[in-house]
This record gives sequence, structure tokens and C-alpha cells, in this order.
Amino acid sequence: MKHVKHLVNGQPVAGTSGRQKDIFNPATGEKTGVVDLASVAEVDAAVQVAESAYREWRDVSIARRTKLMYNFRDLVTRNVDEIARRLTSEHGKVLSDSAGEVARGLENIEFACGMAEALKGGYSENASTGVDVYTVRRPLGVVAGITPFNFPAMIPLWTIPNAIAAGNAFILKPSERDPSTPMFIAELFHEAGFPDGLLNVVNGDKEAVDALLEHELVRAISFVGSTPIAKYIYSTAAANGKRVQSLGGAKNHMVVLPDADINLAADAAVSAGYGSAGERCMAISVIVTVGEVADPLIEAIRERTDRLVIGDGTEATSDMGPLITAEHRDRVAGYIQQGADAGASVVIDGREQTFDSDGFFLGASLIDHVTADMSVYTDEIFGPVLSVVRVDTFEESMDLIEKNAWGNGTAIFTRDGGAARAFQQEVDAGMVGINVPIPVPVGYHSFGGWNDSFFGDTTMYGHEGMRFYTRPKVMTSRWPDPATSSVNLGFPTND
Ligand code: NAD
Repeated sequence: MKHVKHLVNGQPVAGTSGRQKDIFNPATGEKTGVVDLASVAEVDAAVQVAESAYREWRDVSIARRTKLMYNFRDLVTRNVDEIARRLTSEHGKVLSDSAGEVARGLENIEFACGMAEALKGGYSENASTGVDVYTVRRPLGVVAGITPFNFPAMIPLWTIPNAIAAGNAFILKPSERDPSTPMFIAELFHEAGFPDGLLNVVNGDKEAVDALLEHELVRAISFVGSTPIAKYIYSTAAANGKRVQSLGGAKNHMVVLPDADINLAADAAVSAGYGSAGERCMAISVIVTVGEVADPLIEAIRERTDRLVIGDGTEATSDMGPLITAEHRDRVAGYIQQGADAGASVVIDGREQTFDSDGFFLGASLIDHVTADMSVYTDEIFGPVLSVVRVDTFEESMDLIEKNAWGNGTAIFTRDGGAARAFQQEVDAGMVGINVPIPVPVGYHSFGGWNDSFFGDTTMYGHEGMRFYTRPKVMTSRWPDPATSSVNLGFPTND
């Protein structure tokens, strides 16, 4: 049985709260370990250590910080398979998907390796006669990241590299459901040569989160998780005077126009709907078919879904793994029934598939004739369930998306450049794919949805992320000849 502790000041530290949570292998249903859950005092101890580390780190040169970030990049690159193995054993997604997640996390380390450019200030010579003005970006201090279960490698890496590059110290509070992966990444961070205390991992639940939200030395909170918690984090942290970026849940629509290539659209729908068992915030969960495209598209999706192999993520033959817990699997299955009860047609019922395992498996499902008032449409299911909403026109598809509460990602499948451009400009979502079903931006752009998928102002990673973790300081300087100096009580104007 593994015992996941905290990582404070570069050392594993066993919890003292007396509270723990079980860790499972979702593919077998077996309990494989426990994770310690931190108390308020344990969070405080980690924050104090981080504050001391920050006070030294903020003065370390960009040259040195860059070298260490490259070391970290190399270590993560060399350990992709090991990270993926740990990830799959607690999350359940297939190994290739776990490795892909690490690859997307690496993009953010690579962006942070370019910190010299990203942190450059601005200089205006002779802004007023003999006066120069320049802006630099200073770190905030101790900042914290609170992350969800579904990307235990990538999402911590959305924030840690930029925060550290910018001169801050970091407290990570990972999901208590799969904490081994972020712990291992934090070990690699230390192996890279970063000073102790700069990145601390505090495992825990609401108690630890609330302690971070209330701690006066924590200057900024980056959160990724479900919408109700994202709203709570945003309002509580902001009320406590902290800078906050809080990313919530999603219900991503894929619009398929009548001129779309059916095979391309079906491949995309199956990949983006059932990949990682639908446990992605950028998963497609609603296919909006415009006009006559619905029947051939559903048939093409059915053919592909029939061929999917669902099994243990460590098996090379598996396309899709289990869900994260038995409770979540049952909740997702409940939505299939709610769809049927509400009058939708269950074209593929994942509940009918049987598995020779105690793992938390559920087959892929496809529900047709879904309408906007049904719970399968209004709620985030976060499982391998695709809904089809049939509309007659492009305008109706846009209207449907606009009325939906979320606005994380969306995609359009078409061969019509004009329609795609109209979609891109008008659609009510933060990340848009054109013939791309999962438009997660590359590491040098930034990630963030709209509406109930995002609370805050500055989105994550890339230049937006670097701005989030820094605050500008502006200097105005002149070197006048004292012989020309005189008293002037007027407000300084520029000339
Ligand atoms: P979650 O909201 O249950 O948990 C996220 C984090 O919040 C965890 O660290 C958890 O310990 C903590 N937490 C849970 N309940 C809390 C409470 N009452 N008070 C304080 N902290 C609490 O989310 P999850 O189930 O781990 O992850 C899945 C959710 O995350 C989905 O809704 C998914 O859409 C969302 N998500 C969003 C994005 C995005 O970029 N927008 C990315 C990934 C996941």
C-alpha cells in the first residue's frame, strides 16, 4: 500500500491531522494506498516555508532560473513513461493518453524556459524632457494552485512553470483522488536543482483549500475544477484580497454542418467524446447536427464506437479506460436513464456492455433527439456520453450555444470557410476549433473559457499566465542639473 505524504521544504512530510483518504486503481477497483489530508496548521507551515524561499528566489537571476527550468524540462522529458505509468494507475486513462497529457504539460515548461523574453519590461526614453519611464514585472510572493483529478500532470504544469519563472514560490494542492503524479513531478522539480521550499505540495480536501484561501501570505489562487467549486473559490479568494483565476466545468458543443465530411466528423466526435472516458473539460459532449447530416453521422459514429476496446489503461489494446470512481460511474449511468425517461433515444447504451473486472467501467453511449431542457443537455456529465441535438439551421446552432450556461470550448465541422469564419467570430465560447474537436491552445497561447467555465480576468499559461503571476512596477527617472532646480507646486505634466 502506498502512503502519499506532503512535500514541504524539499522533503516528504507525513501528515499529522490524522485524516486520510483512500486511493484506488480504477481499472481493478482495488484500494492501492492512502493520501494524508492536511490541517490548517500543516498548510500554514508549508506557506511559511514558501514565503522564506520566495524572499531569496525573487532575487535569483533570470539566467540561473532559466538553466534550472531547462533541467526540469529534461527530467520531465526523460520520465514521461514513468509519469504516465503512475498517472494511469490512479486515474485510469490509457497510457498513451497519459503520455500525451505530459507532453502538453511540457509545452508550458518550454514556454517558461523562454522567461527572459516573456518577463521583459518596457522602456520609454525621454518620455518627458530628460525623463525616462520604464516598467518591470515583479513577482507576487507565495501563490497556490488547486487542481482537479482529470489531468494530474498537465494542469499543475499549466501554472507551476510560469509562477516559478516569474519569481514566486508555489503551493500545490492536487486532487486527493490521484495525488501520486503531481508528487512525482514535484520530486523531479527538486532534482532539477530548484531550491527547497519553492514548490511545496500539500495534499488535502476542503480544509486545506480553505486554509489557502484565507492565508494572508498567499497572494494568488489558480483553480481548475467543477463550476460550483470554481465560483466558491473565486468569490472567497477575491473577498480575501487575492488575485484569482478560477476555471470551471464545461458542456462543449460540436456543430456539424451539412457540407461536412462525415468520416472526419465521426472520427472527431468519437475521439473527443470518448477519449479519457469523457473526463476532459474540453471533451465534446453535445453534437449539434444541422439539417440532414444527423442520420449518416450517427451511423458513422455507431460503426466506430462498436470497434472501441474498453479496458485497463495499461493494456496496449485499450482505447478507453474506466471512470475515476464507482460513484462517478453510477452517476454517469444515471444520466443515460434520465435521457431515456425524458424522451430521448438511446442509440448506444453503455450500460449494456459487461466487463470482467471490478473496475469502474462503463461503455460509451450515444443519445439522439436530445433537447435543451433535458438533464443530459443541461448538466455536465463528465463521462463517455455523447448527446445529439438536431437543429435545422446554422443560426439555431449558434443560438443553442449562446443560451448554454458554459462556454469553454466549441468546434465546427464544415468545408465552408465563410460559415467557419462567422462561427469563429460570433460563437459564445473561449476556445474554438475549426475542424479541430479539442482546441486546447498551445503553450504559448493561453487557456480559458467564458461564462460559467471561467471566473477571473487573466487566463492560464502562456503570456496571460505570466501576467497573472506578476505585477507591474513603473519607474520615472530624471537626472537634472541641481543648478536648474526650482520649487513648482503644480501637478507634474509632460513636455
Ligand atoms: P472538483 O471541483 O471536485 O475538485 C477540484 C479541486 O477542488 C480538488 O483539488 C478538490 O480537492 C477541491 N475541492 C473539491 N470540493 C471542494 C470544496 N467543497 N471546497 C474547496 N475545495 C474543494 O473537480 P474534479 O472532480 O476534481 O474535476 C472535474 C471537474 O473539473 C469537471 O467539472 C471539469 O470540467 C473541471 N475541469 C475544468 C477544466 C478547465 O480548464 N475549465 C479543466 C479540467 C477540469
